[in-house]
Amino acid sequence: MNDTRDTGRDENARGTPAADGFARLSHADFPDFAPGSVWLVGAGPGAPGLLTLLGFHGLSHADIVVYDALVNEDILNWKRDGAVLEFAGKRGGKPSAKQQDISLRLVELARQNKRVLRLKGGDPLTFGRGGEECETLASVGIPFRIVPGITSGVGGLAYAGIPTTHRDTNHSVLFLTGHDATGDIPQGVDWKNVASASPVVVMYMAVRNLPKIARTLLGFGRDPDEPVAVVSNATLPHQSIHTTTLGQIPDAEDIVKLPTPALVVLGRVVDFHDRLGWYAKAMRENAVG
Ligand code: SAH
Repeated sequence: MNDTRDTGRDENARGTPAADGFARLSHADFPDFAPGSVWLVGAGPGAPGLLTLLGFHGLSHADIVVYDALVNEDILNWKRDGAVLEFAGKRGGKPSAKQQDISLRLVELARQNKRVLRLKGGDPLTFGRGGEECETLASVGIPFRIVPGITSGVGGLAYAGIPTTHRDTNHSVLFLTGHDATGDIPQGVDWKNVASASPVVVMYMAVRNLPKIARTLLGFGRDPDEPVAVVSNATLPHQSIHTTTLGQIPDAEDIVKLPTPALVVLGRVVDFHDRLGWYAKAMRENAVG
């Protein structure tokens, strides 16, 4: 193994390659993680390599990591020795009262002068309630930083070989959640407009309500022949992809039993999966995400 100190180079200098020619992560390039502050970090969709460098830096300096159910636990191995891990998981539309408890816990830990890293799946502000946690922190004057992550609706699709946009198919994309606090399809979504607004719709938390969503969109005139993909456990070794058409979904009772977490993609971009799906092959060849 090469050691940069042998070369006489300053391994912390920005842009200095290590002796083996590979760049090294220099913590000097990243902001200080001040005690008494909270970093709200997106872990990405699952594969550990999809955590950002800034997220990695935060993780390796935090005193305590408060993490969610969808965070791949392999990422937690990058915490520094002695840092505490605290699970704050919520899954599948549990009552939202707990959200306030989590926010208050972050306040409590920051007031103990800890470096608090709040680690959430995907991007913390995308269907992740990170905005609510920041509101609580802001309201009591706790300093915080937001470290965006790769949202599953983008990164997960990339691992399925489905472009979110492609000039041949769509110039816009629409992200929505398929269930609200009651578990039903969200009334806050204008389904009539969704049916016509965007050629590609990416749905989070939508598998359980998929038959109802499909019936609603078909009722508002969406083409029954449009392809749909359900991408389960995206970016993880057990990723799986189920393809169908919008018109077939209302009669496909088993679709609600597909593995979760899963993304539902509606639109012609799904057809690219046949040609661009690369991950299953990559996994067969070297079994690394
Ligand atoms: N903040 C997260 C989303 C949290 S909501 C993000 O930006 O990705 C949880 C939903 O995200 C799940 O129900 C599922 O729809 C989606 N999701 C998260 N991780 C996923 C994964 N690895 N594969 C498929 N869907 C995923």
